[in-house]
This record gives sequence, C-alpha cells and structure tokens, in this order.
Amino acid sequence: MKFTVAIDGPAAAGKGTISKAVAAHFGFAHLDTGLLYRAVGARVAEGEDPVSAARTLKGDDLARSDLRTQAVADAASTVATNQQVRQALVEFQRGFAANEGGAVLDGRDIGTVICPDADAKLFVTARAEVRAERRWKELQAAGMEAEFDTVLAEVEARDARDAGRKDAPMRQAADAVLLDTSDLTIDEAIARAVAAIETAGGRAGG
Ligand code: C5P
Repeated sequence: MKFTVAIDGPAAAGKGTISKAVAAHFGFAHLDTGLLYRAVGARVAEGEDPVSAARTLKGDDLARSDLRTQAVADAASTVATNQQVRQALVEFQRGFAANEGGAVLDGRDIGTVICPDADAKLFVTARAEVRAERRWKELQAAGMEAEFDTVLAEVEARDARDAGRKDAPMRQAADAVLLDTSDLTIDEAIARAVAAIETAGGRAGG
C-alpha cells in the first residue's frame, strides 16, 4: 500500500530526526530531500553548472562526506532558488513518494509542491534561537569552533532565503499539522508526529 508522509520545516527544527524515527516506527522508506540540494550545491561549489549538476545527480553524490557542512548548506540553499534545478529533482522525489510500503519525505516544499496529496503532512518548526542553539551544540560536539551569534545569523539567513524565494518557498501547507519542537524533548516530538500520522490513517507496514 502507498502511504506518503510529507514533513517540512526550517533548518535544525528536528525534522530529520523525527522523519527517521517515524519511518522506522511505521516501516516506511525515508528520503531526506535536503541531501539532493546539498549534493547539487557541493558540485556547483566545485565549478559545475547548477542545472547540469541537478540533471546528472547520482547515488554517489548523495554519499559524499562533506554534505553536512555549513558551506554546502549555503550552496544548497542558493541552488534551491533555481527553478530548473528544482524541476530536475521533482520526478525522483515523486517516484520515491509512490513507494509501495509507505514513504516519508522531509524538506521544505514536500507538502506544498512535491506531494500536495500526501496522506499525512507535518510542518516541524522551533524558535530560531532554539534551532541555532541545537546547531551550535552539534558543531561543538563535532569539535568545530563557532560563535553562537554567527550560527544564529546563518540559521536566520537560510530561513529568509528558503521562505522568500519565488519558486516553491518553504511554507506550511494549509492541511499540515504544525509541530513546534521548541519546548519538547526529542521523544515527545516523535510521539506527537507518530500520533498525527496515525490520525491521518498511517499504520505500521504501510
Ligand atoms: O534540509 P537541509 O538543511 O539539508 O536542506 C538544505 C537546503 O536545501 C535548504 O536550506 C533548502 O534551501 C534546500 N531544500 C529545498 N527543498 C527541499 C529540501 C531542501 O529547497 N525540499
């Protein structure tokens, strides 16, 4: 059976963790669509044309070890404003969403553009300061030096670019359940996401 879960939201709101956990809970396949834009951004940073990079994206590109860096995140959010880049990635995402056995896709435009008919939609967010603090702690844990104010400025700049672009801007779909994780533990956030998906008819095993 097909069952598509669309999870959107800004950077560091917890949507990656929640998406992985709900996919595991229901036994659905999971696609982090940000990785597609990051992989294109990484190739563009090496001098490639954005549209040809998007049209020739391969599995290997998604396995690069540098996709989680701030530089690649910024490059991703810049290439993500390009309409032809977005267009080149639509088919792959929709094919994934139609996976027999259920699929969870997380990104910025899944519930609005890629899968407007998704069976369950969530918009996961948190206050910018909370998201910046999470990102800052992750960087520290990874042994990377960073000023909190710089991380906050980067989070806010990326939000503004993602929400302000003309094509497929980040926004909550009218029929998406809002999940603000600012004052929730990870387990609480996952439990609420699972409950929202069950309410929408999601069952383990698709
Ligand atoms: O989710 P993540 O931080 O990995 O995404 C990196 C960037 O890719 C985002 O800032 C956004 O610009 C872009 N993106 C997008 N649409 C998606 C997923 C990611 O535009 N569905």
